[in-house]
Amino acid sequence: MSATPTLIGEQLVKSFSSGKTRQTVLNGISLSILPGELTLIIGPSGSGKSTLLSVLSGLLLPDSGTVHAMGMELSRLSAEALDRFRLEYCGFVFQGFNLFTSLTALENVLLPLNYGPKIDKAVAVRRATAALELVGLGNRIKLRPMELSGGEKQRVAIARALVKEPKLLFADEPTSALDSHNGQIVIDILHHIAQEHGTTVLGVSHDNRLIKHADRVITLEDGAVVKDQRARNMLEAA
Ligand code: ADP
Ligand code: MG
Repeated sequence: MSATPTLIGEQLVKSFSSGKTRQTVLNGISLSILPGELTLIIGPSGSGKSTLLSVLSGLLLPDSGTVHAMGMELSRLSAEALDRFRLEYCGFVFQGFNLFTSLTALENVLLPLNYGPKIDKAVAVRRATAALELVGLGNRIKLRPMELSGGEKQRVAIARALVKEPKLLFADEPTSALDSHNGQIVIDILHHIAQEHGTTVLGVSHDNRLIKHADRVITLEDGAVVKDQRARNMLEAA
């Protein structure tokens, strides 16, 4: 039995111009990402990992090629429908946390619930609290980012990304700014989300510990996939 991919990229090309030069960053990438898996994209700095994540999540449109996500072709969606796709189906986690410093952890996690169908305030607070509990911060909900460690901030960011129960979670270098202990906690959470909640997690990382927990590891070089391995095979080969 083979599962229907959550995300399919076909022949993706993306280039950027700066001045007179034009740089091709994605050079005809095709891949499919399966539901409920933790897939990791690795590769040297500048190989196009973040750009690929942006294209696959509809933040950037490719110059050519197509992205199908949850059965929708992203380039055929109106701007409004694309916004809705991202709000309803996707969660995003970045290296830099991107929390609002004047808001508490709970208020940060509540933010995405302001978009889309209106829900009762009490229900929203319950959901945001549950998301913070899922990342082990049930006792930190009233604190502001300043009062939290780097690892805790990233966990708040993950709770915010998960509060709408996205089918797809995109994480760009989620552990790069963290020490090894906090990095491990974040990795365990991402692993748990894929495994227990069936969320499709697509991450970019240099972190070997994340590779260990991934179901699949895709290596990019110069905007092309040079390796695509089940992680278990990769570790056995190492
Ligand atoms: P990685 O995440 O693997 O380090 P990126 O996808 O961020 O790589 O970038 C790949 C290349 O594309 C880099 O050379 C970068 O400078 C260039 N690039 C990325 N985004 C832009 C942009 N918005 N405008 C111009 N060049 C960009
Ligand atoms: Mg990057």
